[in-house]
Amino acid sequence: MKFGGTSMAGTERIRRVANIVRAQAAGGNEVAVVVSAMAGETDRLVNFCREANALYDPAEYDVVVASGEQVTSGLLALTLQSLGCKARSWLGWQMPVKTVEAHAKARIESIDAPEMVASMEAGEIAVVPGFQGISEDGRVTTLGRGGSDTSAVAVAAAVKADRCDIYTDVDGVYTTDPRIVAKARKLKAVTYEEMLELASVGAKVLQTRSVGLAMKEGVRLQVLSSFVGDDAVSADELPGTMIVSDEEMDELVEKGLMERQLVTGIAHDKNEAKIILTRVPDKPGAVAHIFEPLADASINVDMIIQNVGRDKGETDVTFTVPQADLARAQALLEDKREDIGFNRIITDSQIAKISVVGVGMKSHAGVASTMFRALSDRGINIQAISTSEIKVSVMIDEDETELAVRVLHTAYGLDAVD
Ligand code: ADP
Ligand code: ASP
Ligand code: MG
Repeated sequence: MKFGGTSMAGTERIRRVANIVRAQAAGGNEVAVVVSAMAGETDRLVNFCREANALYDPAEYDVVVASGEQVTSGLLALTLQSLGCKARSWLGWQMPVKTVEAHAKARIESIDAPEMVASMEAGEIAVVPGFQGISEDGRVTTLGRGGSDTSAVAVAAAVKADRCDIYTDVDGVYTTDPRIVAKARKLKAVTYEEMLELASVGAKVLQTRSVGLAMKEGVRLQVLSSFVGDDAVSADELPGTMIVSDEEMDELVEKGLMERQLVTGIAHDKNEAKIILTRVPDKPGAVAHIFEPLADASINVDMIIQNVGRDKGETDVTFTVPQADLARAQALLEDKREDIGFNRIITDSQIAKISVVGVGMKSHAGVASTMFRALSDRGINIQAISTSEIKVSVMIDEDETELAVRVLHTAYGLDAVD
């Protein structure tokens, strides 16, 4: 069972969570619980790091931001004990959750937790702080924002759980963010492949890596709400959204429990920033010079456009990076100005990426043109486009995000009929 930030925000909420956990344990289950920091806490800690040092050392950043989950894991264990349950916390370094790669976006390599499993078998509820791990050299690491979902899936895989329930502040995965589109529809099920794509383009209900890991390890994943009363349907009745394999989805469709749609969901992402390098030499190796230093610094580049040269021999290169990496990217590029040979560097954080996702588009034409038409009818300008087999994304002005999502939700016939 995993509980997100809003579910853990304050002692009252944590008591609610403890009741849900106790009910599952009382049903005869061995339970491991993964928790997030209280809502807003991680942002607060990130800001402290920024204030302390704008170009902060990611290893020390991890020391600071991992603390939010330490607090909530201890508090939940205490609350469970107050309800008469046996419970204890297992911090990242105690289990241990071994991670590799960069600080602040570490990847879980292994969880080998025989002691925790033994304690669960002895009837003790295991409470695990999400988001945190330990590096090969023994330092605290964190898994990137939203990483507690991935912690939960990794723990579920490690203890060979029957199911991994992700409790959050909405009762499932919807056709789009239900906070933006009131007519968004809850999906009974969504395939791993589509959920992976939706998450990677901004549907923050599950961290992308958690879905990839669940798919790889065959973890059964359910998204459901922790904001329910004592009379709520048990999680075992699958009241939320199940993430399923293609075969399971085919069965659901055959039984008439799911409908096939061209587009399954729409997501938006306001966390990217645009960088334009002007007057880059139009010759072999020029773009390699730009992107190599960014790759070496583990900065992910998403959309890339190289304009046709205005003047002979020169071109503008536009691309997006996570907003959190913008300052570092800009500094790195300035450093390499001589090698790359650009004229100006222009940045813009006021952009958003809107994506439509669906396996249906593998075999149907016209999904992209419907998108472009619907946006143009509302006067929304498209600054860049990218596609994959099951996704079309466009970059637009950030101010038009909500409008674009609503317009597209209607255009693809996803609005709920009331
Ligand atoms: P938690 O703190 O529990 O991890 P998050 O805030 O990370 O919760 O994720 C839940 C939020 O994801 C919801 O409140 C909702 O606004 C947002 N969201 C975005 N896209 C979707 C979607 N397609 N379906 C459901 N929720 C979505
Ligand atoms: N607390 C972390 C964050 O806000 C991890 C998580 O909640 O999943 O990103
Ligand atoms: Mg989350």
